[in-house]
Amino acid sequence: MCSSFPRFPILWGETPLQPLHRFAEKLGVASCWIKRDDLTGIAFGGNKLRKLEFLLGRALKEGCDLIITGGSPQSNHARLTAAAANRAGLETWLCFAGKRLGEIQGNLLLDQLLNARLFLTGQYGSDGLLRAMEEKAEEARNLGRKPYIIPVGGSTSIGDYGYLKAWQELESQRERAEIPPFDEIYVAVGTGGTLAGLLTGHTLSRSPSRIIGVSVWQASEILKSEVAGLSSQLMKTIKQGQEVPSSSIHILDQYIGRKYGVPSEQGNEAIHSLAEAEGLFTDPIYTGKALAGLMDQVRLGKAGKKHILFWHTGGTPALFTHANSFLRGEEK
Ligand SMILES: *Cc1c(COP(=O)(O)O)cnc(C)c1O
Repeated sequence: MCSSFPRFPILWGETPLQPLHRFAEKLGVASCWIKRDDLTGIAFGGNKLRKLEFLLGRALKEGCDLIITGGSPQSNHARLTAAAANRAGLETWLCFAGKRLGEIQGNLLLDQLLNARLFLTGQYGSDGLLRAMEEKAEEARNLGRKPYIIPVGGSTSIGDYGYLKAWQELESQRERAEIPPFDEIYVAVGTGGTLAGLLTGHTLSRSPSRIIGVSVWQASEILKSEVAGLSSQLMKTIKQGQEVPSSSIHILDQYIGRKYGVPSEQGNEAIHSLAEAEGLFTDPIYTGKALAGLMDQVRLGKAGKKHILFWHTGGTPALFTHANSFLRGEEK
Protein backbone atom coordinates (compact mmCIF):
# COMPACT_ATOMS: atom_id res chain seq x y z
CA MET A 1 0.00 0.00 0.00
CA CYS A 2 2.90 2.38 0.72
CA SER A 3 4.93 1.93 -2.48
CA SER A 4 2.28 3.68 -4.57
CA PHE A 5 2.38 6.62 -2.14
CA PRO A 6 5.93 7.96 -2.02
CA ARG A 7 6.10 10.61 0.69
CA PHE A 8 8.07 13.83 0.77
CA PRO A 9 8.31 14.52 4.52
CA ILE A 10 7.14 17.94 5.72
CA LEU A 11 5.40 17.37 9.07
CA TRP A 12 7.52 17.28 12.22
CA GLY A 13 5.68 14.25 13.52
CA GLU A 14 2.20 13.78 14.96
CA THR A 15 0.29 17.02 15.45
CA PRO A 16 -0.76 17.61 19.09
CA LEU A 17 -4.05 16.24 20.44
CA GLN A 18 -4.95 18.57 23.31
CA PRO A 19 -7.83 18.93 25.78
CA LEU A 20 -9.72 22.24 25.86
CA HIS A 21 -10.85 22.27 29.49
CA ARG A 22 -12.02 25.86 29.72
CA PHE A 23 -13.74 25.81 26.34
CA ALA A 24 -15.52 22.52 27.20
CA GLU A 25 -16.77 24.02 30.43
CA LYS A 26 -17.99 27.13 28.64
CA LEU A 27 -19.85 24.92 26.13
CA GLY A 28 -21.22 22.55 28.74
CA VAL A 29 -20.00 19.36 27.05
CA ALA A 30 -18.37 16.43 28.87
CA SER A 31 -15.08 17.17 27.12
CA CYS A 32 -13.71 18.90 24.06
CA TRP A 33 -10.38 18.11 22.44
CA ILE A 34 -8.55 19.69 19.54
CA LYS A 35 -6.38 18.07 16.84
CA ARG A 36 -3.80 20.71 15.95
CA ASP A 37 -3.43 20.46 12.18
CA ASP A 38 -2.79 24.19 12.30
CA LEU A 39 0.65 23.04 13.50
CA THR A 40 1.68 20.87 10.57
CA GLY A 41 5.18 22.26 10.44
CA ILE A 42 5.94 25.04 7.98
CA ALA A 43 4.55 28.33 6.62
CA PHE A 44 1.82 28.76 9.31
CA GLY A 45 0.62 25.16 8.87
CA GLY A 46 -2.73 23.72 7.82
CA ASN A 47 -4.37 20.59 6.47
CA LYS A 48 -2.99 20.92 2.92
CA LEU A 49 0.50 19.95 4.07
CA ARG A 50 -0.68 16.42 4.83
CA LYS A 51 -1.93 16.12 1.26
CA LEU A 52 1.20 17.79 -0.12
CA GLU A 53 3.53 15.24 1.47
CA PHE A 54 2.08 12.66 -0.91
CA LEU A 55 1.38 14.95 -3.87
CA LEU A 56 4.98 16.19 -3.90
CA GLY A 57 6.23 12.65 -3.25
CA ARG A 58 4.52 11.67 -6.49
CA ALA A 59 5.75 14.75 -8.40
CA LEU A 60 9.35 14.03 -7.36
CA LYS A 61 9.02 10.36 -8.26
CA GLU A 62 7.79 11.36 -11.73
CA GLY A 63 10.81 13.66 -12.11
CA CYS A 64 8.76 16.87 -12.32
CA ASP A 65 10.44 20.24 -11.78
CA LEU A 66 7.44 22.56 -11.59
CA ILE A 67 4.24 22.47 -9.53
CA ILE A 68 1.14 24.14 -10.92
CA THR A 69 -1.89 24.64 -8.71
CA GLY A 70 -4.60 27.21 -8.12
CA GLY A 71 -7.41 28.60 -6.06
CA SER A 72 -8.57 31.98 -4.91
CA PRO A 73 -5.86 34.63 -4.39
CA GLN A 74 -6.24 34.04 -0.63
CA SER A 75 -6.02 30.24 -0.94
CA ASN A 76 -4.34 28.44 1.98
CA HIS A 77 -3.67 25.54 -0.38
CA ALA A 78 -1.75 27.82 -2.77
CA ARG A 79 0.40 29.22 0.06
CA LEU A 80 1.23 25.79 1.46
CA THR A 81 1.95 24.34 -1.99
CA ALA A 82 4.46 27.14 -2.67
CA ALA A 83 6.11 26.56 0.73
CA ALA A 84 6.27 22.77 0.42
CA ALA A 85 7.52 22.97 -3.18
CA ASN A 86 10.34 25.29 -2.07
CA ARG A 87 11.45 22.66 0.44
CA ALA A 88 11.44 20.09 -2.33
CA GLY A 89 13.43 22.39 -4.63
CA LEU A 90 10.55 22.74 -7.10
CA GLU A 91 9.19 25.93 -8.64
CA THR A 92 5.50 26.87 -8.15
CA TRP A 93 3.08 28.55 -10.53
CA LEU A 94 -0.19 29.63 -8.93
CA CYS A 95 -3.28 30.13 -11.11
CA PHE A 96 -5.76 32.35 -9.32
CA ALA A 97 -9.48 32.70 -9.87
CA GLY A 98 -10.96 36.02 -10.89
CA LYS A 99 -9.66 39.23 -12.42
CA ARG A 100 -7.95 40.95 -9.51
CA LEU A 101 -5.61 39.83 -6.77
CA GLY A 102 -6.85 42.19 -4.08
CA GLU A 103 -4.80 43.39 -1.15
CA ILE A 104 -1.27 42.00 -0.72
CA GLN A 105 -2.02 40.54 2.70
CA GLY A 106 -2.43 37.15 4.36
CA ASN A 107 -1.80 34.23 2.02
CA LEU A 108 -1.10 36.38 -1.04
CA LEU A 109 1.68 38.20 0.81
CA LEU A 110 3.17 34.87 1.86
CA ASP A 111 2.98 33.53 -1.74
CA GLN A 112 5.13 36.46 -2.81
CA LEU A 113 7.64 35.93 -0.01
CA LEU A 114 7.83 32.30 -1.12
CA ASN A 115 8.66 33.48 -4.64
CA ALA A 116 5.79 31.67 -6.38
CA ARG A 117 4.82 32.92 -9.87
CA LEU A 118 1.29 34.29 -9.81
CA PHE A 119 -1.20 34.26 -12.71
CA LEU A 120 -4.68 35.73 -12.78
CA THR A 121 -6.86 33.46 -14.94
CA GLY A 122 -10.18 35.34 -15.06
CA GLN A 123 -11.77 31.94 -14.36
CA TYR A 124 -14.14 31.06 -11.54
CA GLY A 125 -14.80 27.59 -10.14
CA SER A 126 -12.70 24.41 -10.00
CA ASP A 127 -13.28 23.31 -13.61
CA GLY A 128 -12.33 26.64 -15.13
CA LEU A 129 -9.24 26.79 -12.95
CA LEU A 130 -8.22 23.27 -13.92
CA ARG A 131 -8.44 24.24 -17.60
CA ALA A 132 -6.30 27.33 -16.92
CA MET A 133 -3.73 25.14 -15.12
CA GLU A 134 -3.64 22.74 -18.06
CA GLU A 135 -2.95 25.64 -20.42
CA LYS A 136 -0.09 26.81 -18.20
CA ALA A 137 1.27 23.26 -18.09
CA GLU A 138 1.28 23.17 -21.89
CA GLU A 139 3.20 26.47 -21.94
CA ALA A 140 5.67 25.05 -19.43
CA ARG A 141 6.19 21.86 -21.46
CA ASN A 142 6.92 24.02 -24.51
CA LEU A 143 9.66 25.66 -22.45
CA GLY A 144 11.15 22.24 -21.72
CA ARG A 145 9.75 22.01 -18.18
CA LYS A 146 8.10 19.01 -16.55
CA PRO A 147 5.01 20.29 -14.70
CA TYR A 148 2.87 18.48 -12.14
CA ILE A 149 -0.68 19.79 -11.77
CA ILE A 150 -2.38 19.73 -8.38
CA PRO A 151 -6.15 20.41 -8.65
CA VAL A 152 -7.81 22.97 -6.36
CA GLY A 153 -7.51 21.92 -2.71
CA GLY A 154 -5.20 19.01 -3.54
CA SER A 155 -8.19 16.66 -3.34
CA THR A 156 -7.06 13.67 -5.39
CA SER A 157 -6.66 10.10 -4.13
CA ILE A 158 -2.97 10.79 -3.59
CA GLY A 159 -3.64 13.94 -1.56
CA ASP A 160 -6.57 12.49 0.37
CA TYR A 161 -4.38 9.54 1.36
CA GLY A 162 -2.67 12.04 3.69
CA TYR A 163 -5.95 12.27 5.63
CA LEU A 164 -6.43 8.51 5.73
CA LYS A 165 -3.01 8.47 7.46
CA ALA A 166 -4.12 11.37 9.68
CA TRP A 167 -7.11 9.33 10.84
CA GLN A 168 -4.78 6.46 11.75
CA GLU A 169 -2.52 8.94 13.56
CA LEU A 170 -5.45 10.22 15.65
CA GLU A 171 -6.58 6.70 16.54
CA SER A 172 -3.13 5.62 17.64
CA GLN A 173 -2.58 8.84 19.63
CA ARG A 174 -5.94 8.47 21.31
CA GLU A 175 -5.36 4.82 22.22
CA ARG A 176 -1.88 5.49 23.63
CA ALA A 177 -3.31 8.26 25.82
CA GLU A 178 -6.24 6.00 26.79
CA ILE A 179 -8.78 8.53 25.57
CA PRO A 180 -12.10 6.86 24.66
CA PRO A 181 -13.39 7.26 21.08
CA PHE A 182 -14.90 10.69 20.49
CA ASP A 183 -18.68 10.83 20.15
CA GLU A 184 -18.46 13.56 17.55
CA ILE A 185 -15.64 15.00 15.45
CA TYR A 186 -16.14 18.36 13.71
CA VAL A 187 -14.07 19.42 10.69
CA ALA A 188 -14.33 22.21 8.08
CA VAL A 189 -15.16 21.07 4.53
CA GLY A 190 -14.15 22.90 1.35
CA THR A 191 -13.48 20.58 -1.60
CA GLY A 192 -14.14 17.51 0.56
CA GLY A 193 -10.79 15.69 0.28
CA THR A 194 -9.94 16.02 3.96
CA LEU A 195 -13.30 14.61 5.02
CA ALA A 196 -13.09 11.84 2.38
CA GLY A 197 -9.67 10.76 3.70
CA LEU A 198 -10.87 10.80 7.31
CA LEU A 199 -14.04 8.86 6.48
CA THR A 200 -12.04 6.27 4.55
CA GLY A 201 -9.87 5.67 7.62
CA HIS A 202 -12.93 5.77 9.85
CA THR A 203 -14.70 3.08 7.77
CA LEU A 204 -11.63 0.83 7.62
CA SER A 205 -11.12 1.09 11.40
CA ARG A 206 -14.84 0.55 12.13
CA SER A 207 -14.81 3.57 14.44
CA PRO A 208 -17.96 4.34 16.44
CA SER A 209 -17.32 8.12 16.21
CA ARG A 210 -19.55 10.37 14.14
CA ILE A 211 -17.55 12.67 11.87
CA ILE A 212 -19.42 15.87 11.06
CA GLY A 213 -18.22 18.01 8.17
CA VAL A 214 -19.14 21.70 8.32
CA SER A 215 -19.35 23.10 4.80
CA VAL A 216 -17.89 26.54 4.13
CA TRP A 217 -18.78 26.53 0.44
CA GLN A 218 -21.26 24.12 -1.14
CA ALA A 219 -24.68 22.70 -0.30
CA SER A 220 -24.60 19.49 1.69
CA GLU A 221 -26.24 17.34 -1.04
CA ILE A 222 -23.55 18.30 -3.56
CA LEU A 223 -20.75 17.79 -1.05
CA LYS A 224 -22.08 14.42 0.06
CA SER A 225 -21.79 13.07 -3.45
CA GLU A 226 -18.34 14.68 -3.89
CA VAL A 227 -17.12 13.09 -0.67
CA ALA A 228 -18.62 9.72 -1.60
CA GLY A 229 -16.85 9.89 -4.98
CA LEU A 230 -13.50 10.95 -3.50
CA SER A 231 -13.57 8.26 -0.80
CA SER A 232 -14.58 5.61 -3.32
CA GLN A 233 -11.59 6.57 -5.53
CA LEU A 234 -9.30 6.43 -2.51
CA MET A 235 -10.61 2.99 -1.48
CA LYS A 236 -9.89 1.74 -5.01
CA THR A 237 -6.40 3.26 -5.03
CA ILE A 238 -5.50 1.46 -1.80
CA LYS A 239 -7.12 -1.70 -3.19
CA GLN A 240 -9.86 -1.98 -0.60
CA GLY A 241 -13.13 -3.37 -1.85
CA GLN A 242 -15.16 -1.39 0.69
CA GLU A 243 -17.12 1.85 0.36
CA VAL A 244 -17.80 4.55 2.94
CA PRO A 245 -21.51 3.98 3.73
CA SER A 246 -23.57 7.04 2.79
CA SER A 247 -25.07 6.92 6.30
CA SER A 248 -21.59 7.86 7.64
CA ILE A 249 -21.35 11.05 5.60
CA HIS A 250 -22.70 13.93 7.69
CA ILE A 251 -22.43 17.46 6.33
CA LEU A 252 -23.94 20.63 7.78
CA ASP A 253 -24.34 23.52 5.35
CA GLN A 254 -26.10 26.10 7.54
CA TYR A 255 -22.89 27.75 8.78
CA ILE A 256 -21.56 29.04 5.43
CA GLY A 257 -22.91 32.54 6.11
CA ARG A 258 -23.38 34.80 3.08
CA LYS A 259 -20.99 32.76 0.92
CA TYR A 260 -17.54 31.20 0.64
CA GLY A 261 -14.69 33.56 1.46
CA VAL A 262 -16.85 36.04 3.37
CA PRO A 263 -16.64 36.00 7.18
CA SER A 264 -19.88 35.32 9.08
CA GLU A 265 -20.96 36.88 12.35
CA GLN A 266 -21.37 33.47 13.98
CA GLY A 267 -17.95 32.35 12.74
CA ASN A 268 -16.25 35.46 14.06
CA GLU A 269 -17.97 35.02 17.44
CA ALA A 270 -16.63 31.47 17.57
CA ILE A 271 -13.11 32.77 16.84
CA HIS A 272 -13.40 35.19 19.77
CA SER A 273 -14.78 32.47 21.97
CA LEU A 274 -11.94 29.97 21.48
CA ALA A 275 -9.28 32.69 21.63
CA GLU A 276 -10.73 33.98 24.91
CA ALA A 277 -11.04 30.56 26.53
CA GLU A 278 -7.86 28.90 25.29
CA GLY A 279 -5.55 31.41 23.59
CA LEU A 280 -5.94 29.58 20.25
CA PHE A 281 -6.72 31.11 16.88
CA THR A 282 -9.09 29.86 14.22
CA ASP A 283 -9.84 31.68 10.94
CA PRO A 284 -12.86 33.50 9.45
CA ILE A 285 -13.12 31.41 6.21
CA TYR A 286 -12.87 27.78 7.36
CA THR A 287 -12.17 26.86 10.96
CA GLY A 288 -14.13 29.69 12.62
CA LYS A 289 -17.24 28.66 10.68
CA ALA A 290 -16.68 24.97 11.53
CA LEU A 291 -16.28 25.90 15.18
CA ALA A 292 -19.48 27.96 14.99
CA GLY A 293 -21.19 24.78 13.74
CA LEU A 294 -19.84 22.78 16.66
CA MET A 295 -20.94 25.42 19.17
CA ASP A 296 -24.39 25.76 17.64
CA GLN A 297 -24.97 21.99 17.56
CA VAL A 298 -24.11 21.89 21.26
CA ARG A 299 -26.50 24.79 21.90
CA LEU A 300 -29.27 23.04 20.00
CA GLY A 301 -28.73 20.09 22.31
CA LYS A 302 -27.62 17.84 19.49
CA ALA A 303 -24.15 17.37 20.90
CA GLY A 304 -25.38 17.29 24.54
CA LYS A 305 -23.04 15.97 27.22
CA LYS A 306 -20.73 14.55 24.65
CA HIS A 307 -17.03 13.89 24.25
CA ILE A 308 -16.10 16.04 21.25
CA LEU A 309 -13.11 16.66 19.00
CA PHE A 310 -12.55 19.76 16.92
CA TRP A 311 -10.17 19.05 14.03
CA HIS A 312 -8.31 22.33 13.43
CA THR A 313 -7.31 22.55 9.78
CA GLY A 314 -5.34 25.84 9.85
CA GLY A 315 -6.06 28.93 7.74
CA THR A 316 -4.98 31.51 10.32
CA PRO A 317 -3.30 33.94 7.84
CA ALA A 318 -6.86 34.87 6.76
CA LEU A 319 -7.35 36.63 10.11
CA PHE A 320 -5.24 39.48 8.79
CA THR A 321 -6.95 39.63 5.39
CA HIS A 322 -10.31 40.07 7.11
CA ALA A 323 -9.22 42.33 9.96
CA ASN A 324 -12.08 44.76 9.24
CA SER A 325 -14.71 42.10 9.87
CA PHE A 326 -13.60 42.01 13.52
CA LEU A 327 -14.21 45.67 14.29
CA ARG A 328 -16.80 45.82 17.01
CA GLY A 329 -19.63 48.18 17.86
CA GLU A 330 -19.21 51.82 16.83
CA GLU A 331 -15.75 51.13 15.37
CA LYS A 332 -17.46 49.31 12.47
C1 LIG B 1 -8.68 23.73 2.41
C2 LIG B 1 -9.06 23.92 3.81
C3 LIG B 1 -10.08 23.15 4.40
C4 LIG B 1 -10.93 22.19 3.62
O1 LIG B 1 -10.24 21.07 3.15
P1 LIG B 1 -10.85 20.26 1.92
O2 LIG B 1 -10.00 19.06 1.84
O3 LIG B 1 -10.74 21.15 0.72
O4 LIG B 1 -12.28 19.97 2.24
C5 LIG B 1 -10.37 23.35 5.73
N1 LIG B 1 -9.70 24.26 6.46
C6 LIG B 1 -8.73 25.03 5.93
C7 LIG B 1 -8.07 26.03 6.80
C8 LIG B 1 -8.37 24.88 4.59
O5 LIG B 1 -7.41 25.65 4.07
